Amino acid sequence: MVISGPSGVGKSTVCERLCEALPAEFSVSYTTRPIRAGETEGRNYRFVSPEEFERVRIGGGMLECAQVYGHWYGTPLEPVRRALDEGRSIILEIDIHGAMQVRRVYADARAYFLLPPSPEEQRRRIIDRRTDAATEIARRLERADGEIRFAHESGCYNRFIVNDDLDGTVREIIEDIQREVAHDRSAAK
Ligand code: 5GP
Repeated sequence: MVISGPSGVGKSTVCERLCEALPAEFSVSYTTRPIRAGETEGRNYRFVSPEEFERVRIGGGMLECAQVYGHWYGTPLEPVRRALDEGRSIILEIDIHGAMQVRRVYADARAYFLLPPSPEEQRRRIIDRRTDAATEIARRLERADGEIRFAHESGCYNRFIVNDDLDGTVREIIEDIQREVAHDRSAAK
């Protein structure tokens, strides 16, 4: 399962809730971005140097990777393979370029793109987070429009969900997954 969306849309909270409710495992990405206050190494991300990132990537250890806001991010391949082999669900919180790469490998992945209720609400959420410098906030807001357009054009997402109510968003995703599972089961009979 892939969750994407512009900065400040509430992806991490939605992922946390989905992991508990489904249940599902969260795919911990590698990143070269510096750790933020409140983040934990190994839980939010594996924070690595650009050299370490490159070593893992060249060694074939990543399912996908992309440069976002000037830093590298990538999904380690092995935990995804293991979860799927063992019949567990796994959630990837990744950008559009990553989602497109995942689709090439796992065509049946379900991909959701979260939309902010409004640009004002998105700005408020990023500022409330108090983790990014003003220039970084401006950069992230500036990219949002283009990202949303690109997400529509990519044809990669099964659903676009306006995240104005956390419970409603989580419910919508769970119901979609349950419908898909039921559909797969009846197709397999
Ligand atoms: P942040 O720095 O706010 O945690 O994340 C910035 C962006 O990178 C978000 O759009 C997030 O979804 C994306 N991202 C996080 N991990 C990965 C990953 O492993 N691969 C890709 N392609 N994007 C990621």
